[in-house]
Amino acid sequence: MQELIRQLLAGLGEDPRREGLLDTPKRVEKAYQFLTSGYKANIDQVLNNALFTVDYSEMVIVKDIDFYSLCEHHLLPFFGKCHVAYIPSTKVIGLSKIPRMVDVFARRLQVQERLTNQIADTIRDKISPLGVAVVMEATHLCMAMRGVEKQNSFCVTSAMHGGFRDSARTRMEFLELIKLRSPIPGLREPTSAGLACVGDD
Ligand SMILES: [Zn+2]
Repeated sequence: MQELIRQLLAGLGEDPRREGLLDTPKRVEKAYQFLTSGYKANIDQVLNNALFTVDYSEMVIVKDIDFYSLCEHHLLPFFGKCHVAYIPSTKVIGLSKIPRMVDVFARRLQVQERLTNQIADTIRDKISPLGVAVVMEATHLCMAMRGVEKQNSFCVTSAMHGGFRDSARTRMEFLELIKLRSPIPGLREPTSAGLACVGDD
């Protein structure tokens, strides 16, 4: 990877042997390994021993989870807040594990819609709740920094299953609690492409 970064620097018109850049390939490799460490993480290990049987069926909400990910189209960051809710049927997930799970999926090359779905699907698969909702709001540097479609550099995506999809009241209760900066486009549809970076250019 370090040799590739040296080539990249040269391709940009830089001199990779310049003093300030000498250790850059090493640093970039280390940074990318961390930012994509989700590929090596095993979600079952992350959730290990943190699924509990309960007699509780009120909505569980974990909101304002900070996340940082990389857009797979441009390898530039997108980052923001993730809000997760579910209604347990028989099991809950230890609360600290939800941000960990978000990290596992965020630390990969992603598009925001898939990231949102992966978090929701994992909760659905692991504890079969009566409903699960995930909303992510993020700024995409690939759009904000390049000045293209600046109005779309802030994107909101959602994935809703079970009670959150079927019941407007449940959905509203959740949305009221997380108080989004902007409305969710096409909320009742599966998250639609075109909201976040779609790699057009
Ligand atoms: Zn992008």
